[in-house]
Amino acid sequence: MEPITYTIPICLTHRCNLNCIYCFQSHDNQHEMTFETCNTCVDWVFDNILNDKNNRAEISFFGGEPLLRFELIKAVYDYTVDKHRSDNYRFFASTNGTVLTEEMKEWFHNHKDRFILGLSLDGGQESQNANRSNSFGLIDFDFFHSNWPKQNVKMTISEKSIHRYAEDVKFIHSLGFGINGADLCVGTFNWSSDEYIRVLAPQLQNLIDYYLDHPNHYNALFQRDLASCAAERVRKKNCGCGDRVHYFDSDGIHYPCTFITPMTFSKTDIKKNKENRFL
Ligand code: SF4
Repeated sequence: MEPITYTIPICLTHRCNLNCIYCFQSHDNQHEMTFETCNTCVDWVFDNILNDKNNRAEISFFGGEPLLRFELIKAVYDYTVDKHRSDNYRFFASTNGTVLTEEMKEWFHNHKDRFILGLSLDGGQESQNANRSNSFGLIDFDFFHSNWPKQNVKMTISEKSIHRYAEDVKFIHSLGFGINGADLCVGTFNWSSDEYIRVLAPQLQNLIDYYLDHPNHYNALFQRDLASCAAERVRKKNCGCGDRVHYFDSDGIHYPCTFITPMTFSKTDIKKNKENRFL
């Protein structure tokens, strides 16, 4: 049987040092996970997921910006690896890449086989700075690519960067990265309006030509099977919410996914959401 991989995001802090224009989270400094709570979440993974030999787990440190809790990350990593020598789990943290010190880079480099850092990057200087708080100059691209050459970046498109989509994609590939998601940001935009389609269509055409010339460059958006888009839609759950994804907020409370949390919804809305079957 194929192993089943579970994703367990553990939110270390609600804080973030950036203020991206499309961020859907509310940040504050009142929500910090403790070492004891984090270990309890990790123990839950081993007792409830990895107790089945067929399962794998990605313990994914989450925020806010998780690297703001570097000391906690190191301590929980040591706690886990000392207790569990098996190779059926790994660590991951998705980061904006802007707070890495030399000390942090050295630690992540020394632990890169079991701990992967995933970078969020929206493209070249203009788009990155417009979307993500002028952060372009703070990111050491080579550090990410040299340590995790197979790790794709996460790209988000806003109304401020949509007209540069093709050039931003090409820039990211020029750094050596593939692209996991090039998603239109969540928000109040009507992305299906003519205004946006008129801008996006030539960008996509440009990229079709580019990918025909560069078939080895990975962009998840261009890997979709077009036949399945045209087929009759079957209602089913693909995202793993509440099933293969289990999110723990900074106080250790368990939620079905990273989008249904106290950073994104009120208590009443979370209660309603948790009653759904997420189909
Ligand atoms: S880096 Fe991530 S968490 Fe921080 S503001 Fe940007 S989107 Fe939000």
